[in-house]
Amino acid sequence: MKSSWRVGRVIGIDLNLDASWFIIVALLIYSLGFLEFPHELHPSARMPRADATSIALGIATSLLLFASVLAHELAHAWMAIQRGIAVKRITLFIFGGVAQIADEPDRPSSEFLIAIMGPLMSAALAAVFGAAWIWLRILDATGVAGDWLIAPILLFGILAQANGSLALFNLAPGFPLDGGRVLRAILWGALRDIRRATRWATRGGQLIALLMIGAGGAWFFLLSNGGGIWYALIGVFLWNAASEGYRQMLMLEMLRGVSVSALMVRVVETVPPDISIIEFVNAYILPRREQTFVVSDGVAALGIIAFDQIKRVPRNAWHTRRVREVMTPRAQIEALTPAQTAASALARLSASEQEELPVIDDDQIIGFLGQDALLRYLKLYSNAARK
Ligand SMILES: [Zn+2]
Repeated sequence: MKSSWRVGRVIGIDLNLDASWFIIVALLIYSLGFLEFPHELHPSARMPRADATSIALGIATSLLLFASVLAHELAHAWMAIQRGIAVKRITLFIFGGVAQIADEPDRPSSEFLIAIMGPLMSAALAAVFGAAWIWLRILDATGVAGDWLIAPILLFGILAQANGSLALFNLAPGFPLDGGRVLRAILWGALRDIRRATRWATRGGQLIALLMIGAGGAWFFLLSNGGGIWYALIGVFLWNAASEGYRQMLMLEMLRGVSVSALMVRVVETVPPDISIIEFVNAYILPRREQTFVVSDGVAALGIIAFDQIKRVPRNAWHTRRVREVMTPRAQIEALTPAQTAASALARLSASEQEELPVIDDDQIIGFLGQDALLRYLKLYSNAARK
């Protein structure tokens, strides 16, 4: 099931909305536009009702809050691109936003700069919105403006507060929060050991997660405040992310030590280009384990054809369509090289969103490497390392 939608492109990066994002936006609009703002806009009324103003203000505030989160993520993404690291996409989801950076930074200085940019952006936004809020409050106190000031004062007050909290919360020194990444970059630079640096930053993240779960739980159970659940949930999310981040780092480190040529499956036979799809299925797909085949006329590789491509051909065309018409032509193939590390191959694989990629050497397709081969290697060696 599709759970996120691409809604646009900013500075060359896809912007996605996760399904969970719509839940939080609806909740925010409801709690601001229908519960909180009616009280703030009509302080003297005993039972204030939501009206067009409070709802419009609720929608505007909610969308601007997420624009602030987006600005934070764009700041990370922009710096990543400056440091030569590609950014796949930015996704907004229930707990905020995440910039999916294609590869881990290879230097502490890059990690530091990419991590610090988000909180800096949020702090700058907090300052701008805070200044606007102060200015409007002064204007309000002089009494020359009218009642219309209440709405923008509310709006800028919330935006200033939210961006300030976003900057502060993200600076908490626990991986994978921005502050944890900053801490890791500093430790990494000082210790020259990314593994130990990540371990300490991860412990920081787990400690912060436990504090949030504990404080959120206490808040909920002792003070019967529903907001406590929210903090506890963010704590659980953070705990998982910290542990996952550490596992990923260990995994990448193992994959950095091995080359594509050691893990790839070598090409042993090729498919002629002019057989029909049904012949290809019966002679290659069904009796063999391979997912992808090299199409060759006996002299040179013409392209590749994969199991997934066959599934997209209508069943009634299997007798008439030929392999040559369905394959990915040689010129369009995205490929790995035998000498590159398995870690960089993994980044390429996940960016391409394909099961496996061909390995090309000297203009020849010599093998294929898939996620399954990387996983098998990791399973084998992570168990061996533990004993
Ligand atoms: Zn951030």
